[in-house]
Amino acid sequence: MTTNDTPSTQPTHRSRFRQFRDLFNKGPVILGYIVAFHVLAVLAFTQPFHWHYLPVMALFYVWMGLSTGLYLHRYLAHRSFEMAMPLQFLFAFGSALTFMRSPFWWAGQHRVHHQKSDQPGDVHSPRDGFWHAYVGWVLKSGDRTMEFVRAGHGIKQTRFTRVLGASDVQILLNTALCSGLYALWGPGGALWCLYVPLVLSLNMTWCVNTFCHIVGYRNFDTPDNSRNSFLLGILTFGEGFHNNHHAKPQLARAGMRWFEFDFIAWLIGGFERLGWAWDVRWSLPTREQSALDQAG
Ligand SMILES: [Zn+2]
Ligand SMILES: [Zn+2]
Repeated sequence: MTTNDTPSTQPTHRSRFRQFRDLFNKGPVILGYIVAFHVLAVLAFTQPFHWHYLPVMALFYVWMGLSTGLYLHRYLAHRSFEMAMPLQFLFAFGSALTFMRSPFWWAGQHRVHHQKSDQPGDVHSPRDGFWHAYVGWVLKSGDRTMEFVRAGHGIKQTRFTRVLGASDVQILLNTALCSGLYALWGPGGALWCLYVPLVLSLNMTWCVNTFCHIVGYRNFDTPDNSRNSFLLGILTFGEGFHNNHHAKPQLARAGMRWFEFDFIAWLIGGFERLGWAWDVRWSLPTREQSALDQAG
């Protein structure tokens, strides 16, 4: 029995609810939904494909890819530009649909990747094994949460990014979207339109993390093993020019040469012209630039 001066040690409804929500960030649960998405994407091939699915699939693939590359990566993790609130909401929503977990967790882990790139303590270096770099780190990163949160300090949080960044909310959104597509076009519509682009988008991000530290060409002699991949550059709207990015992570662009098509940088430039983005870092201060030119 508790009294007023002996605080209760019984868990409250609120703490029980928080524990329940934390379950969605545990490695086995994350593994469960990653496997489930892949199974659902493969099951799409048991359903007839209709051409009217294609624009919806393309829309989701582009939205998810930009939400990772433009928003989580260049906007939040590197602060390489500022953008209007409706765009932040649009891409925060897209990153929630892509199951990128909390934007602040994502940005923090990515900053740690840059700080320790291909060194001990890197989040996803292929030097620690291919599958660890590809997806294993996602499942094992629970005990580094505080380190990632610290690395993500200074990142502006808003109420909607906090809500949309919760894994259980992301599962709910996914389920709601899946139900809507199912109601509209049946099981084929849900599987083709949602899970195929989702799985492609997740794997593209993992491919950049892994292959762009193994194979490809280098424009800059960075201390890590980062590489540029033309193919991944195209498939990820510019994110595959990863050696360029490691050399100049502060910049809003990753494409440096004429054939390095950086769709994300073009889009940021478009937003800037419309007044929807500002303080865009297109170049480094002269002294940093000349040091890099000598190194490259
Ligand atoms: Zn990297
Ligand atoms: Zn980066």
